Amino acid sequence: MKEFDYIITGSGASGLMLAYRMANDSFFEDKTILIIDKEKKKSNDRTWCFWEEGKGEWDAILCKVWSEIIFESPFYSTKTSIAPYEYKMIRSADFYQLMWKTIEAKSNFSFVSDTVLNISHKSNSASVLTEKTSYSAQKIFNSIAFNANYQQQKKYPVLKQHFIGWFVETKDVMFDDSKATFMDFTVQQKRKTRFMYILPISPRKALFEYTLFSARLLSEVEYEKEIVQYLEEKGITDYKIVEKEKGMIPMTAYKFWKHNSKNVLNIGTVGGWSKASTGYTFMNITRKTREVIEFLKTEKNLREFHKSGRFWWYDLLLLDVLSKYNHQGARLFSTLFQKNRVQKVFRFLDEKTTFFEDVKIMWSMPSWKFTRALFKRIL
Ligand SMILES: Cc1cc2nc3c(=O)[nH]c(=O)nc-3n(C[C@H](O)[C@H](O)[C@H](O)COP(=O)(O)OP(=O)(O)OC[C@H]3O[C@@H](n4cnc5c(N)ncnc54)[C@H](O)[C@@H]3O)c2cc1C
Repeated sequence: MKEFDYIITGSGASGLMLAYRMANDSFFEDKTILIIDKEKKKSNDRTWCFWEEGKGEWDAILCKVWSEIIFESPFYSTKTSIAPYEYKMIRSADFYQLMWKTIEAKSNFSFVSDTVLNISHKSNSASVLTEKTSYSAQKIFNSIAFNANYQQQKKYPVLKQHFIGWFVETKDVMFDDSKATFMDFTVQQKRKTRFMYILPISPRKALFEYTLFSARLLSEVEYEKEIVQYLEEKGITDYKIVEKEKGMIPMTAYKFWKHNSKNVLNIGTVGGWSKASTGYTFMNITRKTREVIEFLKTEKNLREFHKSGRFWWYDLLLLDVLSKYNHQGARLFSTLFQKNRVQKVFRFLDEKTTFFEDVKIMWSMPSWKFTRALFKRIL
């Protein structure tokens, strides 16, 4: 069995960002690091958006930035500046290229293209079984979902953020690319939380993503029918689809981190790094990979990496409410944006608000629903 100091299984967003940080830190210079993935991804398989205050680490590879957002629903609509925040977009192809350029320049890193079947946790090491062979390491960082444990439990509700997006290009100028539409709830709700997410990249090109926060996925035709209808309603009939993307992000307060062990740390979505109440993950990966690097220098048990806090409770309550009242999502999000400045909402979702601010935000929401959810959890 070939041995390494560290193995990273899965070279998507979290695996690559962790490897990139290791490659940029002299602490890891004398460590051998193996990355395993089914494929070395180079193409654009997704776009990542996130809000950020001022300059950021990924500014050199951004493909678009917006400083204003639109929120629409039958209950409340707004166009607003998000300053001092900006809403930023990265194409994954540019991200993968930047990561690999740094990693491939280091001789202590190697990559194998193989399918990982299983990871074994041992007292002083861990090992990986792949289709072709097996490897062992002092520590393993895993971003591959081997089983959907979170789907099989009943303690925490499991919603999904699921969507299909079309990048459309029009002949005529059709879009105001100075504003991103965060959520447009004017689409038919059909007793579920559904909205259109629109990212205009230029006056003639935009991403339209038909998105649900619900328990059950739709068939591809269903999402696409809704996009066609929406475009038609907006008078966009002469267009071509230049790219498509499809995704599913779990939204659950399930404790993913309980599968971590002394020598195996789950990272990315399977580590519970997707914000349970929104599905946003990219900035959590940015923050948490930095924390993992510092944590490794302490040589502590990887089980101690995760720290739960009060924000886990807020996510849990929001998901309890949203799954019970999934048909009222449009109203819930409208209340959130109507009663709170968007900048405050961002800080809350970034888990940077004070306890006093948290209470004010929670209180602005339909309080009996949240109070009932809280009592159900604690009694
Ligand atoms: C289309 C899409 C758009 C998204 N947009 C946003 C966004 O705008 N903002 C945001 O914050 N988040 C977004 N997300 C959520 C999240 O940021 C991404 O899913 C992100 O890629 C998660 O990173 P990860 O490392 O956990 O998983 P991934 O990036 O999916 O990496 C997992 C890797 O494991 C590999 N793999 C899987 N199984 C095996 C196996 N058995 N053997 C070997 N390799 C394997 C895969 O090839 C992949 O490279 C989006 C997700 C999707 C799907």
